[in-house]
Amino acid sequence: MNPRNVAIIQARMGSSRFPGKMLARLGGIPLLEWVVRRLLRATTLAQVVLATSDRDSDDALAELATRLGIAVFRGSEADVLGRFVGAASMARADNVVRICADNPFIDPAEVDRLVRYFAEIPCDYACNHQDRLGSGYADGFGAEILSAALLEKIAANALEVRHREHVTLYLWDHASEYTLNAVAAPAELAFPKLRFDVDTPDDLANLEVLVGAGVAIETTACDIIRIAQENYRTASADSSSHVRAELADYLQRLFPLCRSITGNPNRETLKTLQELIPLTIHEVPSGTAVYDWTVPDEWNIRDAWIADASGRRIVDFRDSNLHVVSYSEPVNSVMDWAELQARLHRHPQLADAIPYRTSYYKRDWGFCVTHAQFAEMEKLGGPFTVVIDSELKPGSLTYGEHLVPGRSAREILLSCYICHPSMANDSLSGVLLTAFLARHIARLKNRHWSYRIVFVPETIGAITYCARNEAAMKRIDMGLVITTVGGPGKFGYKRSFDSSHPINAMIEEVFRDTETEFVTYPFDIHGSDERQYSSQGFRINAATICRDRYYEYAYYHSSLDNLAFVTAEQIAETLDLYVGLIDKVEARRVYRNRIPHGEVMLSRHDLYPATGGAQRPELGGRSELDLILWLLFLCDGKPDIANIAARLGVSSSDLVPIADRLVAKDVLEIV
Ligand SMILES: [Zn+2]
Repeated sequence: MNPRNVAIIQARMGSSRFPGKMLARLGGIPLLEWVVRRLLRATTLAQVVLATSDRDSDDALAELATRLGIAVFRGSEADVLGRFVGAASMARADNVVRICADNPFIDPAEVDRLVRYFAEIPCDYACNHQDRLGSGYADGFGAEILSAALLEKIAANALEVRHREHVTLYLWDHASEYTLNAVAAPAELAFPKLRFDVDTPDDLANLEVLVGAGVAIETTACDIIRIAQENYRTASADSSSHVRAELADYLQRLFPLCRSITGNPNRETLKTLQELIPLTIHEVPSGTAVYDWTVPDEWNIRDAWIADASGRRIVDFRDSNLHVVSYSEPVNSVMDWAELQARLHRHPQLADAIPYRTSYYKRDWGFCVTHAQFAEMEKLGGPFTVVIDSELKPGSLTYGEHLVPGRSAREILLSCYICHPSMANDSLSGVLLTAFLARHIARLKNRHWSYRIVFVPETIGAITYCARNEAAMKRIDMGLVITTVGGPGKFGYKRSFDSSHPINAMIEEVFRDTETEFVTYPFDIHGSDERQYSSQGFRINAATICRDRYYEYAYYHSSLDNLAFVTAEQIAETLDLYVGLIDKVEARRVYRNRIPHGEVMLSRHDLYPATGGAQRPELGGRSELDLILWLLFLCDGKPDIANIAARLGVSSSDLVPIADRLVAKDVLEIV
């Protein structure tokens, strides 16, 4: 007997980014209706079911589904997984096809393709709803499938809140235990950069353009792609492509500069960034004591080379500034191979790469060469003319700072390092992303938090900054250390030292919202300037979203970390994630009780709710009075409201109005 394949549509009205989204109209038709009517054209589905919450606000969705002739299952809003199990059991499903209601252009033929694939290829799970596992699919045509038995098994195992919220996340988090497959998109549909899902009102506006250009309920995925290609081509002079062009221009201009922990190229870099943001440039004299460190002498270099007996340059600083060990003392000497060899560094793995080496705190000099250059000089045997035309003398360390005020005096730290010479992913990508993100933040209307954005040489610069801004740094809520954001490889994030700090959850949410696969790196004492910001004196929770993280990619600290490896497009994709994160940071609210000494006299502030002590089921079984008392108890200016809501087992959207009422009565204040 054929298995019973049941499509379960997951939808609810509550959406923090786009409230009421499911009934928003596209071409005059509610989004949910698009999904249902397109799905009903699939031939492999025994039944289509809407799984929505049992909240009053979702009654309208249930009514629409009933009118469209599909079954409705209602369950817990937060426990989506439980809701799916209930819906599958009600529909006696053998296999569950999970449909995301954000996809009004879901394609019946592609859903059929997925169901047939799952029947033929032995696996635990298959999908074709996006470019997962390199499937090549655009976002928004397909679905995910698994057996009802496996779904029940997950539900019995998955205890974490995020696993109950995101039905198939458990499988991806335990990918080694299951066979997870993606259907490869047929060539005519392999446009992985296109997306048709609706996350925000802007997304809906984009789809409205396509509907205006002819997309209807009956339109095939193939035709939708054609229409999208035609329309997006004309619209491609939009702001995002403008940002890409700007990024490409700054990459070209800043890549050649020979930056180090001090020196003129650092000043030039910061001056160039002043075109984007009003950076304040500070100079700290050599010899200044900063905690356990001392600001070193300033280093500048004009030229360097190794020449053979005829004067021909075998190694030339003008070809690559990585040829010289950073902070090399001046040299002008003639030497034989034995003496020179001790000064040469080669990349241990990559024969064609020039490795990156520094000697900041020990007076030294050296050259970095390719394996071929090394072999040539070994063969020649010398004598060699060796010149490093550098200067190492008292000067200053340069850093840049941009303070962007918000309504709240509480600050968020953004930090990047400006100390690397010509390498694109390590350092420059992070510097540019930080500058573009800073510009984005400065343009935000009604900005809530204040932002402290710093461009410092790594380690010594961050320590110097902390020493000169100690009091302010101790008031910072959380931070982002922005580096290695432009490679072609995997996205990832390094957690802050306290893994329960909200910055980590917000970053994971950004990845999930954008359905971006990511690698999680635990906090580690190695790494970048989070080492300084998280040190005992400051304890700032600082995390990093990265792409081809430092240490991990083969070209790390070599001349192959160049503009062939890093593109403006790749940096722009990571920038989008950071922008999404700032949205979440901005939406975060922290309240403080203005009457922290003893209990608040509720009657004096007219705070006894009209409903008295009655329990309202939508408040997690708690009365409103109870929630008021908990808010007064917990709001001490530290945890955010989402955190408190989770602790009380209610949703933030229920708690925020109550907190805001307390603000209106001057009992709470927003920090
Ligand atoms: Zn580095």
